[in-house]
Amino acid sequence: MSLHGKIALITGAGKGIGKAIAVKLASEGVHLGLLARTRTDLDSLAITLQNSHGVRVSAAAADVSNRTEVESAIEVLSKDLGPIDILINNAGTAQFGSVAEMNPEDWEHIVKVNLFGTYYVTRTVLPDMMRRNTGNIINVSSTAGQRGNATTSAYSASKFGVIGFTESLMQEARKFNIRVTALTPSTVNTELASNIGLKIGDEDRMLQPEDVADLVLSILKLPQRVLVNQAGIWTTNPQ
Ligand code: NDP
Repeated sequence: MSLHGKIALITGAGKGIGKAIAVKLASEGVHLGLLARTRTDLDSLAITLQNSHGVRVSAAAADVSNRTEVESAIEVLSKDLGPIDILINNAGTAQFGSVAEMNPEDWEHIVKVNLFGTYYVTRTVLPDMMRRNTGNIINVSSTAGQRGNATTSAYSASKFGVIGFTESLMQEARKFNIRVTALTPSTVNTELASNIGLKIGDEDRMLQPEDVADLVLSILKLPQRVLVNQAGIWTTNPQ
């Protein structure tokens, strides 16, 4: 299925996995709405992609955990670009710490960004997809959303939540010809992974953001009737 001329909104598009997905979709002729908190990251990516691929790119700074900011940003992006065909809920944050010791504000922040953020963005974009009877939503969860580990309680709770949310949304939205998918990558070579001490061993054998972008593209290119419910991605590196 050609994606040329489609319009995608990518959250957390300023760096890491979101940026790699933006680059990949632009190379397929997809027009892009970019959302994250850091305006400078988005503006420089927008200029690069407009120049290199000739696609339309609009950027809006917002914190996904703030519903008002999300609604205003999506209004701006939709006005600039038109109705959104593809939503990639990728913005996320991570911090590890034991349940006893972790600061409750930090715990709440992780759940607010990863889970509430996914919900706020989705509920803003979804009604238009339902009216148009088409759409694609990909929510980035994690292997931590399938299995809890010591010190991952906030991150795991948020990412398990994303899987539950995705599963339920998928059942609601499929009758509107909207495909909803949860991605569950293991460790990917990004700032987020290094900040929480997950970059260990040979970086070349870690998953790269571009690998996740390739997976996203292959899911989106399947015929619209094919709904990938959940897609995991690991490396051959056993570490
Ligand atoms: P990065 O830290 O490299 O990038 C995160 C992006 O999200 C940035 O653009 C950041 O921009 C944005 N972001 C963070 N918080 C917010 C917020 N509150 N509102 C809006 N945007 C925000 O992370 P990754 O690329 O590694 O992670 C992307 C997704 O993939 C996350 O959901 C993460 O949980 C998930 N994931 C990552 C794995 C890994 O090992 N890296 C493995 C499995 C899943 P800014 O700070 O400017 O807002």
